[in-house]
Amino acid sequence: MSLLDMIKDAGVIGAGGAGFPTHVKLSSKSEYILLNGAECEPLLRVDQQLMEFYSKEILIGFEEARKLVDAKEGIIGVKGKHKKVIQILREKIKELEFEEFISVKEIPDIYPAGDEQVLVYELTKRIVPEGGIPIQVGCVVLNSETALNIYNASLGQPVIYKYITVAGDIPNPITVKVPVGTPIMEVLKLSGIEDFNDFKVIDGGPMMGPVMKDLKGSITKKNKGFIILKNSHPLIRKKTVTMERSKRINKTSCEQCRMCTDMCPRFLLGHNTQPHKMMRAISYNLDNLEELKNSYLCCQCNLCELFSCPAGLYPKAANMYFKQKLMEGNIRFNKVQNDYTVRNAREFRLVPSARLIARLGLKVFDKKAPMKEVTINSDIVKILTSQHVGAPCIPCVKIDDYVEEGQVIGSIPEKSLGATIHASIPGVITEITDEFISIRRE
Ligand code: SF4
Ligand code: SF4
Repeated sequence: MSLLDMIKDAGVIGAGGAGFPTHVKLSSKSEYILLNGAECEPLLRVDQQLMEFYSKEILIGFEEARKLVDAKEGIIGVKGKHKKVIQILREKIKELEFEEFISVKEIPDIYPAGDEQVLVYELTKRIVPEGGIPIQVGCVVLNSETALNIYNASLGQPVIYKYITVAGDIPNPITVKVPVGTPIMEVLKLSGIEDFNDFKVIDGGPMMGPVMKDLKGSITKKNKGFIILKNSHPLIRKKTVTMERSKRINKTSCEQCRMCTDMCPRFLLGHNTQPHKMMRAISYNLDNLEELKNSYLCCQCNLCELFSCPAGLYPKAANMYFKQKLMEGNIRFNKVQNDYTVRNAREFRLVPSARLIARLGLKVFDKKAPMKEVTINSDIVKILTSQHVGAPCIPCVKIDDYVEEGQVIGSIPEKSLGATIHASIPGVITEITDEFISIRRE
């Protein structure tokens, strides 16, 4: 069986949060392959520790991926501040004799260094076109956990575990490996908190992650971390404002200073992302959607809302509002430009992570979240049929079937984009719905 088929069978998807099926990504040919080790979301500690503890496996997985896409060069992007990780990776590259093809490049400690398009620019000086993807400039980007999963897939091991950081206003920040499908609540309790009434939980990093409506879900292959904060924390209050309320506030208070646009990471790359114009459109009820198509160019990094705007307004929400309207009207973005140049002021407008963390009110929680071996033996796991970009899996098991750990329980529908799902524990199938398959441990 080819490695690409093994990756497909193992259900490998982008572990950085995007969830794009990796076997499809690696079917392209590209000039560069990039490993995203930036981990720019404050407080998350998965990738930096994986690169430290599983450097050999990640490098082998990355090199295999490089060969699949025929890239002449593989570049690993790691923030310069992670000196130990950089040293380990460089030594391992030498040991594995990968120097001819793979190198480590230090990237600045800025937000959002891990945004795919920012990373492509930092590592290759190429600019992904507006509304485009890295392959258009000859790059394929992989997350470090994805590279580890590629290595595991080459040994016939499917993706049934996920690495998660639990951090925030908690006694016990921690990074753990847990079976996919584990109840989120069991992972959250590793924080040392038992009663969550006074807390809200952000699913993912504090910048881009949404505040969870309830804590009933299960771990998927896309989860990266949970940030637990008191209900009264300013970040929680800001992130839980409704679209209607944000529109009202935006309408009354925007002073059109343009800071949201001038500091927007995509605008600084030369794109025409202009959130201040969306704010203007909201303030003056301008609704010619054709003129608001640039709202499609927002990557939802949230920098404008949580850092740049001096008035504490909601320019990202303004972008999202118009993007939604455009999608409802089936109005697409048309690329008008081919060549892009970064804005002259870019280097002076990059946002250092430390300043961002202080602004978010998270400095006191910016601690290590060491990777620890913990055993969570949930009685029941719920494996979602859709944890990836593409069509949901079709269950290939029945109620009362006994399944082994790692057994396929859902397959990709024919001629569809998707990713296989597997049993993460041994047990009996107890429930099958369109959304999930439950397994009771036996
Ligand atoms: S949203 Fe904020 S940063 Fe943007 S133009 Fe208005 S006041 Fe300035
Ligand atoms: S969220 Fe704001 S800063 Fe980020 S890309 Fe969108 S408009 Fe730019």
